[in-house]
Amino acid sequence: MARRKIIAGNWKMNKTPSEAVALVNELKPLVANDDVDVVFCVPAIDIIPAMQAAKGSNICIGAENMYYEESGAYTGEISPAMLVDAGVKYVVLGHSERREYFAETDETVNKKVLKAFEHGITPIICCGESLTQREQGITIDWIRMQIKIAFLNVTAEQAKTAVIAYEPIWAIGTGKTATAEQAQEVCGAIRACIAELYDEATAEAIRIQYGGSVNAKTAPELFAKPDIDGGLVGGASLKPEFGDIVNYKK
Ligand code: PEP
Repeated sequence: MARRKIIAGNWKMNKTPSEAVALVNELKPLVANDDVDVVFCVPAIDIIPAMQAAKGSNICIGAENMYYEESGAYTGEISPAMLVDAGVKYVVLGHSERREYFAETDETVNKKVLKAFEHGITPIICCGESLTQREQGITIDWIRMQIKIAFLNVTAEQAKTAVIAYEPIWAIGTGKTATAEQAQEVCGAIRACIAELYDEATAEAIRIQYGGSVNAKTAPELFAKPDIDGGLVGGASLKPEFGDIVNYKK
């Protein structure tokens, strides 16, 4: 069975609540497409107003992060129950910016992944190599390690519903998209790694996105690759161009 594409925007630290409502209203008609899952991952404070603005459309509102404890003395954090109560279905975990600036590690990503599944939230699990790692020829080894740790103690049934975002760090926010061949090579290796960890059925079901300067021009070739099931889009998700990315086939 063909996997359904999932195209998600990552707003990062952009848009106030009122700006979020305006952007959702602007993009709503542009991202209409019943063949693709469309997710806007927005700052925590924007989740509820964005959700209200998206009502009745095909846009699903997601979060950009979540903590792995249930509740308590963790000032500034957002719990899984808070996201569930707000109606959130997807959460980005382990984005490279969180790893670089907020000390996120493969181990904390794993804890968050397990917690997200426990609460019925689908994690969008990010992985990706630095430019140095690519130049040293250790991209696949690195990604396999990230995947193996992120999926520790995750069951096959849970893994089947997960989303993985392969995002080469050198391509994020740089305007330098990986070629479709480079992206396919790594996404194929990720699927093979999932098959090793679980089985073929799980590997066939899991959805793998490419992320890193995706734009309306590069999306069609990237999303046509056999192991690329959509994209995680930063900069271009804040613009009308996101509609062209979602409707990359038209
Ligand atoms: C991202 O934020 O995950 C991302 C890929 O950003 P950009 O599309 O701007 O490179």
